[in-house]
Amino acid sequence: MTTPQQPPSRVSPKRADVSRETWPDLTEFDTPIGAAAERATQVLHTNRRLPRPTRRRVFTIANQKGGVGKTTSAVNLAAALAVQGLKTLVIDLDPQGNASTALGIDRRQSGTPSSYEVLIGEIPLRAALRQSPHNKLLYCVPATIDLAGAEIELVSMVARENRLRSALAELEDSDFDYVFIDCPPSLGLLTINALVAAPEVLIPIQCEYYALEGVSQLMNNIEMVRAHLNPHLNVTTVLLTMYDGRTKLADQVAEEVRRYFGDKVLRTVIPRSVKVSEAPGYSMTIIDYDPGSRGAMSYLDASREIAERGVIGKEQQS
Ligand code: ATP
Ligand code: MG
Repeated sequence: MTTPQQPPSRVSPKRADVSRETWPDLTEFDTPIGAAAERATQVLHTNRRLPRPTRRRVFTIANQKGGVGKTTSAVNLAAALAVQGLKTLVIDLDPQGNASTALGIDRRQSGTPSSYEVLIGEIPLRAALRQSPHNKLLYCVPATIDLAGAEIELVSMVARENRLRSALAELEDSDFDYVFIDCPPSLGLLTINALVAAPEVLIPIQCEYYALEGVSQLMNNIEMVRAHLNPHLNVTTVLLTMYDGRTKLADQVAEEVRRYFGDKVLRTVIPRSVKVSEAPGYSMTIIDYDPGSRGAMSYLDASREIAERGVIGKEQQS
């Protein structure tokens, strides 16, 4: 995809520019400054701050099913927290490197210090930290294509499942409030490293056919990691993504997921939105690309819920 030099206009698109398929409710666009835009303005321009967690919260974003919104949720939740005053880090543990790109980090430059060098112990995690150009509270440890070989290289390494946890321990006395680890769509050693490094798991689930397919396998793996490698591990958060309010199916899936996961499922649901899918093409999160859009507002709402649930998360961990 070609990346334009200039970010697109933040003015809401005209009706004709909006795909009817993905935007069933077009009322938001009838008034240029609609309710969503007003709320965005409140959030972004009145210095609204979320409370800092009493202890740093580290989330692994996992679902071995591909394309369910892991990366989109990692970068947009991180940007939403950062814009509300919390210092946030995204560790890109997927060789595809989509999280790094969405955060505006150029990962193709040769010699970019990345999560690969951190995992194999060549450099400390601090040396791979990059600040996002869009927010000074938002950081990323980027992934380069080198990471594709890490699954195999790690197999023969000492403490192969603990390497990310050891690297993160180095940040112990840093002032990061939130860390999100974006996993690849597999249950290999990269995902295991992420599950060992974090007390909290966030599972994004796409409101589509077979939404829960593979989830029981993921839960078994989480259980195994908890039993043998990380007793503090807990699924604390489930986020429904790509919700299309026009379809009965989306509601049925949401109901089924809520039955299965109970109150771990955030009340906020992320709608399917063209804007959300466009943002990474401009090396931006939706929070920067179109802060008044429904997608941005839903990620801001989800981030607030996560911050407010911090207390529950900590109780569950202990
Ligand atoms: P992978 O398993 O390949 O890592 P993933 O689980 O990280 O995928 P994403 O890359 O976040 O999933 O999303 C998959 C695709 O869906 C991307 O093209 C993304 O832009 C698009 N997408 C994600 N969320 C939304 C949304 N709310 N509305 C519309 N498109 C979305
Ligand atoms: Mg991804």
